[in-house]
Amino acid sequence: MNRTYFIFLLSVFLFAGQLKSEETIWLEDFEEAVQRSKTGNKPLLMVFSGSDWCKPCMILEKTIFNTERFKQFAKDSLVLLKLDFPARKENQPAKEIMAKREAVAEVYNQSGSFPSVIILDGDKKVLGKTGYKKGSVENYIEHLKSFLAGYKYTGDLTQPTLKKYQRKVSLMGSPFEFVVVCEDPEVAAIVLDVAITESERVEKMISSWDENSQTSWINKNAGIQAVKVDDELFQLIKRSLKISDLTDGAFDISFASIDKHWKFDRSMTALPDEVELKKSVALINYKNIVLDEANHTVFLKNKGMKIGFGAIGKGYVADKTAQLMKDMGVKSGMVNAGGDLIAWGNGYGNEKWKVGIADPDKEKGIISWLDIQDMAVVTSGDYERYSMIDGVRYAHIINPKTGYPVTGLKSVTIVCKNAEVADALATSVFVLGQQKGLELINQLRDVECILVNDQNGMVTSKNLILNYITANQ
Ligand code: ADP
Ligand code: MG
Repeated sequence: MNRTYFIFLLSVFLFAGQLKSEETIWLEDFEEAVQRSKTGNKPLLMVFSGSDWCKPCMILEKTIFNTERFKQFAKDSLVLLKLDFPARKENQPAKEIMAKREAVAEVYNQSGSFPSVIILDGDKKVLGKTGYKKGSVENYIEHLKSFLAGYKYTGDLTQPTLKKYQRKVSLMGSPFEFVVVCEDPEVAAIVLDVAITESERVEKMISSWDENSQTSWINKNAGIQAVKVDDELFQLIKRSLKISDLTDGAFDISFASIDKHWKFDRSMTALPDEVELKKSVALINYKNIVLDEANHTVFLKNKGMKIGFGAIGKGYVADKTAQLMKDMGVKSGMVNAGGDLIAWGNGYGNEKWKVGIADPDKEKGIISWLDIQDMAVVTSGDYERYSMIDGVRYAHIINPKTGYPVTGLKSVTIVCKNAEVADALATSVFVLGQQKGLELINQLRDVECILVNDQNGMVTSKNLILNYITANQ
């Protein structure tokens, strides 16, 4: 596990409280809504939804209509009408009411789309049509406004107050942290739930401890048969093999066959048996991981071979959940998957995210910090997972050629767009050592690194500009 700290620049003063608007009223009768629209000179927003069967309808409801921001906007500016078409008998209103709704749907929702959002004026003229759209409440409101030329908005249109919402959980044996900067606590809660559920799902897929994970199946069938896997895992393995090629085998997910000989929880007191270790080292070779594109199968050629995603999995999860959060409309956020960090947007306020680079020798110290925007920063270190044997530190990154932990560097930080690549490269540079590691990073476009070596020397790649920390900070 490695540490990367992040700090927020609190340069903008943010409102402490959030305005709560009064309960927004959703009408259920079409004619009444039209009447109110006409007399009040307000546009009518009519939603066709299926409250007990239509998933996008539920998402629209939760992430847009139920938010404080939407309520602020709609209050005094719109007449709201919900025409619900529940599937379950017990959720349906009286027959006559359903018949009335169906009659309105005949006119305004002939295609039967759910959810369907129609904006009308007081003369029942259609001003616009929409439905569920990915994006933030703010985007949705802007989209609605595009239909409303000629109308005055009397609702509260002050800019939303941004807040930071975060959640910490333990996943993949490491502390994970998810941060959402947005205006609405309810939206933040939904996004955070989704991100955590997604991380748990990926953890299940790549776990070597879970006997029933697809990864465990591949390992159990080493030397026996090819195992069919989901495309997601297949592609992850394929990308892992590419990194192995790029690093000349310094990165190798088949390192795991030597797992049983080492423990990096400070409990080991003697080195592993040399002969036994050699037997396992002979099994490490990414070229013996056979992928069959057509059948989507993975085959480990030799009995005893084993793969593990310890050096790439957390980066993958960070990318995956960050993308999901962006897709849900989060404009600024951060995922820190046990030190594999990816951040996007403007941080908290109008500044970039500030990410500290951990000092390998000090529990909570940092040696430098970076201002980042849409960037991943990943640190691999020797200072958290290791065992001391006869006064020598043996840490958890293994040279696949020898089966022994690598020495020479204390920490490697990679900065690039993609957390998965950064994660895999951090481990690779550790194995390659300072000179070869730097050569590799300097050859790659838009990838930078910061190394701390055994002598506490700090070295960076060609294009990286560091913010040096002065001694008393
Ligand atoms: P962290 O877990 O601190 O983020 P890394 O990303 O460097 O650190 O991953 C280290 C883990 O990767 C080890 O615990 C092990 O599971 C796995 N690993 C060790 N050596 C290699 C290697 N040469 N190639 C691929 N994976 C490795
Ligand atoms: Mg790594």
